[in-house]
Amino acid sequence: MKVYLDYAATTPVNKDVLEEMLPYFQQHFGNPSSVHSFGRESKKALDIARDRVAKSLGAKTEEIYFTGGGSEADNWAIKGVAYGLKNKGNHIITSKIEHHAVLHTCEYLEKEGFEITYLEVDEYGLISLDELKKAIKDTTILITIMYANNEIGTIQPIKEIADIAKENNILFHTDAVQAYGNIPIDTEELGVDLLSISAHKLYGPKGVGALYIRRGVRLHPLVHGGGQEKKRRAGTENLPAIVGFGKAAELAHENLEGHNKQLLNFRDQLINKLMAKIPYTRLNGHPTKRLPGNVNISFEFIEGESLLLSLDMVGIAGSSGSACTSGSLDPSHVLMAIGLTHEIAHGSLRLSLGDPTTQEEIDYVIEKLPPIVERLRQMSPLYENIKEEAKNV
Ligand SMILES: *Cc1c(COP(=O)(O)O)cnc(C)c1O
Repeated sequence: MKVYLDYAATTPVNKDVLEEMLPYFQQHFGNPSSVHSFGRESKKALDIARDRVAKSLGAKTEEIYFTGGGSEADNWAIKGVAYGLKNKGNHIITSKIEHHAVLHTCEYLEKEGFEITYLEVDEYGLISLDELKKAIKDTTILITIMYANNEIGTIQPIKEIADIAKENNILFHTDAVQAYGNIPIDTEELGVDLLSISAHKLYGPKGVGALYIRRGVRLHPLVHGGGQEKKRRAGTENLPAIVGFGKAAELAHENLEGHNKQLLNFRDQLINKLMAKIPYTRLNGHPTKRLPGNVNISFEFIEGESLLLSLDMVGIAGSSGSACTSGSLDPSHVLMAIGLTHEIAHGSLRLSLGDPTTQEEIDYVIEKLPPIVERLRQMSPLYENIKEEAKNV
């Protein structure tokens, strides 16, 4: 059995999405900027896709700008504000648990002379609104706080943060890549100024995303060149991908409620049953302010990497809380920020669920995971000691 539980990393392209994309490779290949019928045909498809994405966010069509993915949208929002408003101020507020597309952009800007405040989070991964208010200075030009965390699933109080930003006349950007398609998002209601999304996290193709830019928000361009995207993001549009993104956005929006309910059910089964069956565990992230498809559990006395390998041998694909795979021995910055020790952070497992997830797959994981954890723990001298001590009391 093969069980993919890494939907937070990426999702397969939905069948209907792929079908809508296919004609745009060979049949309708015109450049949307061309004036002839081929171009006009493509332009029409581009407009429809933009409309669909806008609708899925409660935004106006002209507030959606296509990018080459979530990372580019994050880079554009942050660098665009930084360079656009550098005469007004040089201070940016973010959090310690952002995606690297935000964190590394902020670190880059720090070297360029900007001042960055990295807000702490509590044990559940939530920022404090009081700390945010205290961090604001006369020179603050941007607050960038993610909507939902990709590792632990914690959902931040975005509306409240947007209100604070507005009261202080500061722009607010949120990386909504994980939240989008999993929980309802309405840009009007939230009052955010900038919001990043990506297609491949909601059954669309990779390499395409969008930045929502509230009307009237001025932003320095990131990619210079032709006049595409109202002269704000150059480059011939990736039409097949954008068409797919539009369809994926529409489907996600239509099916959100049912999708949400099913994921919640599976998520809670996994959390409750795994934690009941396996001792010495800790649920990472908030118990309720949490993405419906996110499970993140630390298992004491084991290495996340060995756990991943053992799971892979029985066909289960998850992700670990350490970054060993990327050549670094540092545990995840998110798990460190919520206060885990190195050891416990290293023994963490993220299982992220998606549309294709079935009850059979959930049952399979609940059956396979506990004996694997027990077997790995038996190799730990620490675990043996603990068991001995438990026997003696
Ligand atoms: C995946 C992800 C990104 C990056 O999006 P890409 O389209 O892969 O560049 C950014 N932020 C979060 C929270 C993500 O989960």
